[in-house]
Amino acid sequence: MSENVIDLLTQWAYQGVYYIVYHLTVALTALIQRSSWLYWPYVVSSLLIAAAVLTWRSRVATRRGADADLARPLSRALWWHRSARADYALYLANALILPLVLTPLLPSIGTVCAALGSPDCLSGATSAGMQASGAVGASVAINDAAAIALRIIWTLLFFIALDFGRFLAHCLLHDCPALWAFHRLHHSAQVLTPITAFRAHPVELLIMAWGPLASTAVVTLIFNRLSGHPVESFTFLGLHLLLALTNLIDNLRHSSVWVSYGKRVGRWLISPAHHQLHHSCEPRHMGCNRGFTLALWDRLYGTLYIPGIEPESFRLGLGDGSEPAWHRLTHAYLQPFRECLSCLVAWVRGRPRNA
Ligand SMILES: [Zn+2]
Ligand SMILES: [Zn+2]
Repeated sequence: MSENVIDLLTQWAYQGVYYIVYHLTVALTALIQRSSWLYWPYVVSSLLIAAAVLTWRSRVATRRGADADLARPLSRALWWHRSARADYALYLANALILPLVLTPLLPSIGTVCAALGSPDCLSGATSAGMQASGAVGASVAINDAAAIALRIIWTLLFFIALDFGRFLAHCLLHDCPALWAFHRLHHSAQVLTPITAFRAHPVELLIMAWGPLASTAVVTLIFNRLSGHPVESFTFLGLHLLLALTNLIDNLRHSSVWVSYGKRVGRWLISPAHHQLHHSCEPRHMGCNRGFTLALWDRLYGTLYIPGIEPESFRLGLGDGSEPAWHRLTHAYLQPFRECLSCLVAWVRGRPRNA
């Protein structure tokens, strides 16, 4: 073997090890990564909300002389369940796979705007993007009331567009059989912990990224045309203000702590309990609550199921007994492609008959 080949192999080995160590380090230090749902302020706020809800529920149960079963959220049976262990493995595996798969396939919102023929929207779109830089835009005079009003409107509009894009992508994952093949992995969870949020196939994550990217790009284009110049969103913790605020409670979406906003507010806002019901395999809950923050989209689409203040009892998972198979990494990554392919083959074969 020539020296050049040995040098090349050594270089590849070095880059491979560096890649693995770097991305695993980022994943394992999520508590200090601003871009992660596990960034420490979001974890701390979720813990405080969970503690407050459990304390309140315990007092109510004591008054009624009932058992509130409050040990469950901290139990080993939950955190070391085979399903939860699969979530941890998928979290680490995705940390290595996603940079290779998603980065080349995910343009920035500015690139999408430019491709749509409006490069002038770049600065506003980029700064108002999902992972906002935190810099305050120089293009808006902060003492100008009209500019501040415009900035408030833009912050709201961008968030509504983002929420709609996420809902739309989630609906595609549920209603298109070839895409449901990939989303099944997320719904195969038999217990919910905050890490279950990362139990997702790379193809699902790609679709869940494209949806809001497209919706926010369109809204950015229209808004910038109407306002005449790019406007910055308000930010908090280095993120779009409203996204950061929802992140303060969103870790409870995948948890065993029932946090419901009640029937009235639940008509407008998606609570963690809404999403826990989304993971139910009971017939009355199937396909419900696909939204992320606003309940409006589910109401319009007919998929809203409003949780009450009192916890409901229901089974989690797919409901067909196939969940244990999905806890294996090879099955989790490969089975969706097989199912997607058989869906497409059935569709192609079925088309002439339907025509
Ligand atoms: Zn979920
Ligand atoms: Zn779903």
